[in-house]
Amino acid sequence: MKPTDELVAEIVGLRPKEGQPFDPPAELGFHCPLCRYSLMHDGEYDPRLGWSKYNGFLWCSVCERHYPATLCMPDIERALKIYLASVKEAVERSGRSSDRASKVAKALPRRRLLRRW
Ligand SMILES: [Zn+2]
Repeated sequence: MKPTDELVAEIVGLRPKEGQPFDPPAELGFHCPLCRYSLMHDGEYDPRLGWSKYNGFLWCSVCERHYPATLCMPDIERALKIYLASVKEAVERSGRSSDRASKVAKALPRRRLLRRW
């Protein structure tokens, strides 16, 4: 795992196994931001882009890297919507993490108190 992958996992989390989009990213208009290729080959979509294990990211099997989906969207209006949806989800996820962290923090003094008794 690359250091950036650890940061990605921390910020956006892992994509849930259920709810995985059925259509491959290329079919939805996504394109690797680094590779130069035609989206279609003999009537078939290029298969290099797949759904990443991280929320809001795509995986390029040629680059062997995870990219934010917004960087993979050539249509700037759709890219903006994807960016905003990704940030919103990350902020909401962060709030859930804070709730979990504060529950753990609240539980800690009680445990310490119980140990003293
Ligand atoms: Zn690529």
